[in-house]
Amino acid sequence: AGPDPVVSTPQAGSPDLELLSRVGVVDPADLDSYRAAGGYAGLRRALAVGPARVVDEITVASLTGRGGAAFPTGTKWSAVAGSPDPVKYLVCNADESEPGTFKDRVLMEADPFALVEAMTVAGIAVGARTGYLYVRGEYPAAETAILTAVDEARRHGYLGPDVMGSGRAFDLEVRRGAGAYICGEETALMNSLEGRRGEPRAKPPFPTVAGLFGKPTVINNVETLVNVLRIVTEGGPAFASVGSGRSTGTKLFCLSGVVARPGVYEVPMGTTLRELLELAGGVPPRLKAILLGGAAGSFVTPDQLDVPLTLEGTREIGATLGSGVVLCFDDSTDFAAVLRRIAGFFRDESCGQCVPCRVGTVRQEEALARIVRGREIGGRTVELQLLTDVDRVMTDASICGLGQTAASAVRSALSLGLIGAAP
Ligand code: SF4
Repeated sequence: AGPDPVVSTPQAGSPDLELLSRVGVVDPADLDSYRAAGGYAGLRRALAVGPARVVDEITVASLTGRGGAAFPTGTKWSAVAGSPDPVKYLVCNADESEPGTFKDRVLMEADPFALVEAMTVAGIAVGARTGYLYVRGEYPAAETAILTAVDEARRHGYLGPDVMGSGRAFDLEVRRGAGAYICGEETALMNSLEGRRGEPRAKPPFPTVAGLFGKPTVINNVETLVNVLRIVTEGGPAFASVGSGRSTGTKLFCLSGVVARPGVYEVPMGTTLRELLELAGGVPPRLKAILLGGAAGSFVTPDQLDVPLTLEGTREIGATLGSGVVLCFDDSTDFAAVLRRIAGFFRDESCGQCVPCRVGTVRQEEALARIVRGREIGGRTVELQLLTDVDRVMTDASICGLGQTAASAVRSALSLGLIGAAP
């Protein structure tokens, strides 16, 4: 496989930041280095104030999931904490596989103790004694860093039957994914953890009611969990004071494509897309479009750069923050070819469980391949109509988010005329 490429984090170690402040500063294999940088202050406070107060703080902070769905974290935690079932689980979704996304990888490789500490805070807050960390199989360096951190934390009493002498028990198991994008979908991930095929389950029941092994389960992604540390140390109101509206705190974005300085950037929610691009060397010359939110996201155009990067702001222009992908294309781009690659990705990664997605992703790729080759059947307009029809069926009738969003980028490209106007 060759050497692992290093992901660029130009702001790494900046004391003004929350999520990236320890990146490049702490030794990821050294617990003392993490403690010297303030590590484990969050867990200490969480144990002092008790689980109910921690769940309240998360709710007051209005923390939303950073994996793409933006579900309120406090709602999930409250539901599981309030369940009378004596067995509950915490799961960390570290199966970061969205094309163009590499932020959780940076957190795990460079600051693994933060994730282990955050999972311990979360697990104890919701009443779980066991947490599972499901790490993407293609992230061997992240897995090694996390395994080392878990061992060290356990050796020093930060995990185990008596966490920091509190009398509360919590421990972690690390499981490696096997290369399926669909296992990043929360119910497919739980099936995978249980040793079953990684296929999404129909919802309801939701994981907070019947999740891993049928038990109430909180599942959060890496970036979401690392935010928990700031909330428990500084309080929910302080966290909620950053950002705007429902979009609180800071957010990691993964910039790639024709930007001068690609990499992972952290900005307060509400920063405009233009300001984010300025951090990465400026608005690229000849910028034609930006794919915002990942392969399942939407294109935005240079006249939309002043959109605030919030859940509400991006929704207003028909886009989404998704998992924080900002993929820039200039005017030399063959967008039909780009979309064909995206369509091929979804065709590969569809689990095949439901017909709209299993067949729709194939038909979508075939139509785009004909357009790329100039071999349209019935002309461009007929192919674009087919893409629109396939989009409608997949979006309306697929079981899970993969099928429901597999045509998002194509739809937005059509609405912007990037491969011909929508019929
Ligand atoms: Fe599987 Fe696609 Fe159906 Fe999701 S939408 S369950 S990935 S076939």
